[in-house]
Parts: sequence; C-alpha cells; structure tokens
Amino acid sequence: MIGSLLIANRGEIACRIIRTARALGVRTVAVYSDADAEALHVREADEAVHIGSSPARESYLVGERIIAAARETGAEAIHPGYGFLSENADFAQSVIDAGVVWVGPRPASVRAMGLKDAAKKLMQEAGVPTTPGYLGDDQSPDRLQREADAIGYPVLIKAVAGGGGKGMRRVDQSEDFADALASCRREAAASFGDDRVLIEKYILSPRHIEVQVFGDSHRNVVHLFERDCSLQRRHQKVIEEAPAPGMDAATREAVCAAAVKAAQAVDYVGAGTIEFIADASEGLRADRIWFMEMNTRLQVEHPVTEAITGQDLVEWQLRVASGEPLPRRQDQLSITGWAMEARLYAEDPVRGFLPSIGRLDALDLGEAVRVDTGVEQGAEISPFYDPMIAKLIAHGDTRDEARELLADALDEAVIWPVRTNAGFLVEALDHPDFAAGNVDTGLIAREGEALMPPALPSEEALIEAAAALAPDLPVAGFRLNAPARREGRFLLAGEPIAIDFTDAPLVEVAEPLDSVLITEGGQTWELAPFRATGATGSAAADGAILSPMPGRIIAVEIVAGAAVVKGQRLVTLEAMKMEHSLVAPFDGTVAELNAETGGQVTEGTLLVKVERQEG
Ligand code: ADP
Repeated sequence: MIGSLLIANRGEIACRIIRTARALGVRTVAVYSDADAEALHVREADEAVHIGSSPARESYLVGERIIAAARETGAEAIHPGYGFLSENADFAQSVIDAGVVWVGPRPASVRAMGLKDAAKKLMQEAGVPTTPGYLGDDQSPDRLQREADAIGYPVLIKAVAGGGGKGMRRVDQSEDFADALASCRREAAASFGDDRVLIEKYILSPRHIEVQVFGDSHRNVVHLFERDCSLQRRHQKVIEEAPAPGMDAATREAVCAAAVKAAQAVDYVGAGTIEFIADASEGLRADRIWFMEMNTRLQVEHPVTEAITGQDLVEWQLRVASGEPLPRRQDQLSITGWAMEARLYAEDPVRGFLPSIGRLDALDLGEAVRVDTGVEQGAEISPFYDPMIAKLIAHGDTRDEARELLADALDEAVIWPVRTNAGFLVEALDHPDFAAGNVDTGLIAREGEALMPPALPSEEALIEAAAALAPDLPVAGFRLNAPARREGRFLLAGEPIAIDFTDAPLVEVAEPLDSVLITEGGQTWELAPFRATGATGSAAADGAILSPMPGRIIAVEIVAGAAVVKGQRLVTLEAMKMEHSLVAPFDGTVAELNAETGGQVTEGTLLVKVERQEG
C-alpha cells in the first residue's frame, strides 16, 4: 500500500478521500487555492500546500503546481477526485513521468474513451450495444442528411468531441436537419475546436443507467451493479439511486456484462463508469439499453454503490493503484437493500436555480443519513467553484424506505441564509411518478412548476415562530372577558408580514429573541421582529436586483420604464460557467436599469430596480 497521497481536489470529494486514506494509515496532503485557505479539506489533511489564487484555472487546474506539491511533500501518489484534472490524460501522463503513482486508469484508456465516435466504434467492435446511428468519416451535409433520414426522426446530432451536454441538437424532422447541423457545427468548432459530428437515434422516454466497473493491473475486471441517474435537470444529475427501479435479474446481467466488456476493451484499471441510455417506453429491456459513454474516474454518485455493496470504492482505488488485486471477485459481490443520493446545492430554485453564495450561518443536516460534505457551519460558499453543499445518502431495505429516509433528512435540513434546493429535492422525492419508479430524464423539465417548493412556511409554523418572538412585541387588546389578541408585524426573510398568533400557546421566553429560524420541507426562513428601517431589506423586498456574483451580462430583456410581471426574466448573467436568469420579484415597473449586454459586473452591482405596482 502507498504510504502517502496527495489529493488534487477540494470540497466533499477531497474530504471523502482523506477519510478512507486515514483509515488505511495513508498520510494525506491537501492542495488549496486562496479561497480555500480555511476549507475543511485543508484542515482534515495531514499537510496542505497552497497552489494558487481562487479561480480553478490558476490553482486546481494547474498540473505543474500539483506535481510540484507532490514532490515537495514526498507524496507517493495523486488522487484526482472527479472534475478538474481527473480525466485529463496528459496530466495523468505527467504524473506518471514524474515518478508519482496515478490513482486512475492508464492515460491510453482515457484517450480511447475521449472522443464519442471513436469510443462508440471501439464498443461496437467489442460487441457492446450502442445507440443506432451514423459514425462515418464522410461529414458532408448531404451524406449526414441522408443518414439522418434513414435513421428516422427524431435524431440527435452530437459533436464527437462534445461534453457537458454541449454540442447536441435534437432534430424532429428532415426539413430542420440542415440548419441544426450548421448550428451544432458552429458550437462544436467554438467549444471544442472540432466540428465533426455523429448522428444518433433520439431515444424517447430515455433513462440513464450506468454501471460501476473496476479493473486491476492483473487484468481482472468486475462490475458493482448499476445506478439509475434518470432524474436530471438540464442533463445534470439531481437524485441517483442503486439499484435501478424495474431492473430484472436477466436485464441486469446483460447490461453489467456489457459494461465489463467495455472496460476490458480498453484494459481498464481503477474505478470507471459505463453510462448507458435506455429506451424505457416499455420498461427496462436488455435489447433497448445502449452504450453512451465511459467516465474514467470515480463518480459523484459512487456512495449509492458503496451502500448497496458494502464496499469502500476509494479503498479499492488505493489498493489497485498500489498494485494489489481487486479486493473482491465478482461472485463475492451482491446487492443489499436500496440506496438513494441527493445533491444538495446552494442554489435558489425559485430564482431559476441561481447559485446562492455567502456564509453558511446555520448548517445542520442531522445524523439520520450519510452526509458527504466539504463545508461546516460558518464556511463560505464561494463563487469560484461548484456550489454543492453536501451529498446526502440514504440506505434502506426497500426503495421506499431509502426514499423516505432521504426525504425526511432533507425536510429537516437547517441552512441559512444561503438558499438551497433542499425543498425542491423533497418535492421531487415525493412526486408520484418518482415514488413509483417511473422516471425518465425529462421528468423535471415536464413537472418543473409542480416541483417548486412553497414560497412561504405554513400558517402553523409562522404562528409558532411568532409566538416565540412575542415577548418582544406590543400586545394589543388585553381586555377582561375577551381573549387577548396577539398579532404583530414581522420580517420573514426580509419581507414584511403580519401574523395573528392569538391561538398559539403562551410561551415563556427568558430573553427576547432577535430572530428565529423556521424550517419546513427543506426550506429555512428567518423570522424577525419588524423594523421600520428595513435594516434587513432583501433584494426582493425593495425590488433592487443585485448581481449575485461576478460575471458577464449576456442578455438584457427589458428597457427602463417597462412594465414587468413577477417571475419575468430581466437580465441574464453568465457566471460560474452557467447562465443565470434574474427575474422580477413582483409585478411593477423598471425604475432603474444599469445592465448592458456584454458588460462585466462585480458581485452586488445594482443591475435593475423594480418599483412595486401600486394597489
Ligand atoms: P455529454 O458528454 O455532453 O454529457 P452525453 O452523450 O453523455 O453528452 O449525453 C448527455 C445526456 O443527453 C444524456 O444523459 C441523456 O440525457 C441525453 N442523451 C444523450 N444521447 C441521447 C439520445 N440518443 N437520445 C436521447 N437523449 C440522449
């Protein structure tokens, strides 16, 4: 076993890797950027090396600095985690060339799976079923059009070098093909420097099924069963589970065997995932599950596999990287119970899932389920990285048990003042289709509104919280023979609200409270006594739309003086590699507009001021 390990990552996955390394007696070295100087992964490691400023391209993506940090600290191996440099074959090669052990597959395996068309061809040769389509070298528009017509619509045009959901176009009819092809090529050339495309049959009712595979340097390959990651928002996974609902033993055997074949075809060593797309219009069937791509690293959702197999996948990675054989043979692996994972993000579903950055003044995720996190109460969610707060992983005897455990844990989460998707996750877990295991990748897009958590806490929760604050408030109407009327004005998350709490039991509060946190359905609100000065005055209360983070304005959809309705998109900001829509908090008119398309803005810039409509 290696004696020391540098973790070239941050956040929850760095903490996750450190936990197993420590249990195995491996010395750990963290690396960190300016923004992460106080981060949990830095404190948990035995040693830490500063590698640059906050933006990832100046720290976590600078391969030379990471290798230098390994040299400096005598780390014998580097674990890349996921994201950042984890699937960069050139980096893996430089690590190996520097005489450091790479905890991951051989660079050649990564390269073989890097381009979509080459990977698909390789899989076809290996006898792995792939989505029907065209992979040919003839890239002339005429030929592509003919192939698409032959496949039958709808089809999906994909950039061969694509990734992250970019460079894909769905085409529903032959007449639209030429335009879609041209636009896909432009995007592919701009994003990936390669305008070649492939064409696939577009799968209706698609489900995302993936298989965890593991190889060692002694040519053994096993699978650790499947995961279902069909609940997605804009091609990003939201909730993952294992096993897959509706997967019978024969289908499981077929898809897992295909995954093992795929891994063997690239002499795979380490942890990998074979992603498949299934046409689930008539349930899961072995002849309707096709290879989509291979991820040559540990996945975010690996804990659900750990839960059902009882294995520690990071331990497997470290053993394999040390040259040991796989800890288990295929016949020593089995599925116990059901596991489900939710990705808890600092983002606001009601504001178009805009990241919500800032300090986590309150953070309590309970102890009922496994929590993988890289932050503690008091930490900052910074604008520089993925705004994930934690992954919550529930394991039960049955799917319903896991689902309910997870929903309860999210329901009781206390997080403030950062906004999160916990309420949205609770709604998703409780959605009748999801509860019944009827999921496809389009569920969230179809049901979007139905999954939005309530804007306000329940009447009962408000009354209870108001009563707890009551000693601080004037009490009106104490009369003989009449019930004491207790009511007052408060600020709920900065917005004025009147609450009549006459019916609440009287509570003895020794000291007046400044505020209370109301937690319900995964959402948290602060309730405070009303202050006429509006000291807490949130953006929504006074209609000031501030830039939530540094970024670039890519669209301005209103003009000064325009009438707007609640929820209407005003300005679109590009930040943290994503587009964020800023919307009107209420009906009104645009009183001020300080945003220009193409303009760079800093955090907190006043972009738009909306004046509330009278009456
Ligand atoms: P990327 O590498 O950009 O992530 P993928 O090929 O992995 O692209 O596809 C991303 C997502 O697009 C999948 O998870 C799936 O939801 C959808 N998708 C991919 N191929 C098809 C297809 N042939 N039909 C329908 N949906 C598809």
